[in-house]
Amino acid sequence: MDTFREAVTTEETLDPQDWTDMGALSHRIVDDAISYLKDVRERPAWREMPAEVRSFFSAPMPRSPAPVADVYGDVARNVMAYPMGNIHPRFWAWYMGSSNFTGALGDFLAAIQGSNLGGGNHAAGLMDSQVVNWLKEMVGLPATASGTLVSGGSMANIIGLTVARNVKAGVDVRERGVGAIPKPLRYYASDQVHSCHRKGMEALGLGNRALRRIPTDDGLRIDIAALKAAIAEDREAGFKPACVIGTAGTVNTGAVDDLQALATVAAAEDLWFHVDGCIGALIAIAPENRPLVAGIEQADSIALDPHKWLHAPFEAGCALVRDASAHRSTFAVTPEYLESAPRGLASGEWLHDYGLQTSRGFRALKIWMALKEHGVEKFGRLIDQNIAQAHYLTALIKAEPAFELTAPTTINIVSFRYKPKGASEELIKALNTEIMLRLQEQGSAALSDTTVHGQHCLRVAIANHRTRREDLDLLVRETLRLGREIEAAATPM
Ligand SMILES: *Cc1c(COP(=O)(O)O)cnc(C)c1O
Repeated sequence: MDTFREAVTTEETLDPQDWTDMGALSHRIVDDAISYLKDVRERPAWREMPAEVRSFFSAPMPRSPAPVADVYGDVARNVMAYPMGNIHPRFWAWYMGSSNFTGALGDFLAAIQGSNLGGGNHAAGLMDSQVVNWLKEMVGLPATASGTLVSGGSMANIIGLTVARNVKAGVDVRERGVGAIPKPLRYYASDQVHSCHRKGMEALGLGNRALRRIPTDDGLRIDIAALKAAIAEDREAGFKPACVIGTAGTVNTGAVDDLQALATVAAAEDLWFHVDGCIGALIAIAPENRPLVAGIEQADSIALDPHKWLHAPFEAGCALVRDASAHRSTFAVTPEYLESAPRGLASGEWLHDYGLQTSRGFRALKIWMALKEHGVEKFGRLIDQNIAQAHYLTALIKAEPAFELTAPTTINIVSFRYKPKGASEELIKALNTEIMLRLQEQGSAALSDTTVHGQHCLRVAIANHRTRREDLDLLVRETLRLGREIEAAATPM
């Protein structure tokens, strides 16, 4: 009996020994977090880490405990002080949202509840399905469609491409594998398609070459006539045209494929119609620009990204599929240890039947809370606001002779370059790369670069609810100043 009592008193837990102390520290963390966001504009968009901070990340594995206040101190000093910067009003690199405080609270509460959303009969699972239903409604899919929250757009696209493969394979590809597919499948997308589709084709065992890149027109949209020709050619050659991927907002320039035309081709040719809407699907909720993505509601599957234009803290992507049973039958498996019960905890829907993950985090809460707080209409207006800002920036660039616009601005991505008269492509690239790096290093703005139709350029992607027009004025001023400065230093006297 005594040894039993002994054992009980030495049992350990991760809960704090003193909840009062933990409460005080937590309040401090929340206060710090609020100042951090409130003052984000005053800090640089990005800054290089000093060597001693960098070396902090090679510290050995901790074997013994440390006071949690010290642990937080390390995080504040070494982590919070050196962010990627995408919450900053002048961060426009690559493509990502800028997060929001309510969403961060959602992530905190989700972690406090700690629920696993693989399935089960509990509130978080219902909220996950509710958010998926709201997203379906936003893009105009019927209530009978299915969907799943995933880590991001890449996973959401892979889900769509997988359902397409299984529906179009002509054999039970789950049981027999891709080797049993009688006619090799072909997928089609524009030459601007996001790189995640290549990874997807490879992971699906179809191979990169099974994704035909179709040339684009002057607006960098898929050339519909070239698509039809490619489909005919492939049929002739014994392939099975299976799926067309339309992009609603390409990552390079924001081009939006003609989704209506793609839906028509897909219907006529019996193809699965997948829309990569990671950037632009949510334009469907933006009152001014909604017509740009007309036709999206005809898709068989859609990938979209709440961590982009809904500004959910990372990670949050969503795959939607019109035919819920095709979706479920692509992924559902019921091992004996995951059978559902008539009542009780295991009587809910098994959300892991709609994707590759078994355990799933409570991603829905951060999206749900911000949507409830602001309402969908405000998110739609913010999308319109970013698009208007991109057109404003485009006008500034067009008005300045030292700049060249390298692609038409359709939505919120502007690509342009500093181009001195008579400069070679090589010099232009060197100059613009240096401009981009100095903007980052001085912390004034974060841009990225790309190549559009063979021309290297700077790229400004405004998916940011903190950006103001004055930030774009500053960008234009600084880019011009740096361009002249670098050019002068590079030109021999
Ligand atoms: C961002 C993006 C992706 C990938 O989404 P992640 O959320 O980064 O995984 C796919 N396609 C397009 C067009 C994108 O912009």
